Parts: sequence; C-alpha cells; structure tokens
Amino acid sequence: MLERRRSELRNEVKGRIRDARSATDRDRTTEHEGLESDVQADIQLSVIQLKADTLRRIDSALRRLEEGTYGHCIECQEAISKERLLALPFAARCTGCQQARETTQRQRSWVGPRRSYDPLTLDV
Ligand SMILES: [Zn+2]
Repeated sequence: MLERRRSELRNEVKGRIRDARSATDRDRTTEHEGLESDVQADIQLSVIQLKADTLRRIDSALRRLEEGTYGHCIECQEAISKERLLALPFAARCTGCQQARETTQRQRSWVGPRRSYDPLTLDV
C-alpha cells in the first residue's frame, strides 16, 4: 500500500514541478500578466512543498518498515495503536508523544519562528 502510494506521489510531484517550471517559462514571455501569475506560482509551490513533505513521510515510514520499527513510536518506542495507524499510516509517534510535541511547538511558535524542517523527525 505504501509502495503504491509513494510511486503515485512521486509521479505527481514530478508532474507538478514540470508544470511550475513551464509556468515560469511562460511568465518570462508574458510579463504584463505579472501579479496574477506570481500568485499562481506561489500556490503551485506550496502544493509541491506539501506533496514533497508527504513523500518524505512515506519514505520515512518505509524506512521504518524495513528496520522493523514501523508501528512503534519514534519517541517512546511504544506500539502505536492500530486505530491510529489506520487513520494515519505514516504516523511516527504515538498519540501521547504527538500531542506533547504539538504542545511544545505551539509554545515555541509564540517566542519565535519555527525551527527549520527536519525530515528525520516527521510529524503526522
Ligand atoms: Zn510515544
């Protein structure tokens, strides 16, 4: 299931990147469209970002599957509940650790910008 989803996403991300590139090429020739195509490009970039994040989550889940740690929390090593894995197949943490992490991130975001994205400690 994960393998299939991954190759689907990979193709989709590739397609999006291609689209964004050709959109950028068009922009160079039709400068007068200016603002609107900038917004379009921004939207496309955030879609690509989102897909790439999902792809990293899938890669991480597959890596854990190979290591035999899939289904176990990366923080406390407890088994993640079946219900949670069904709802979030790429979950890397149990509900408790995830909530604790979200709470700290929320608190951190009040004092300053979020730290840069670390692909090894993925949230779901
Ligand atoms: Zn945990």
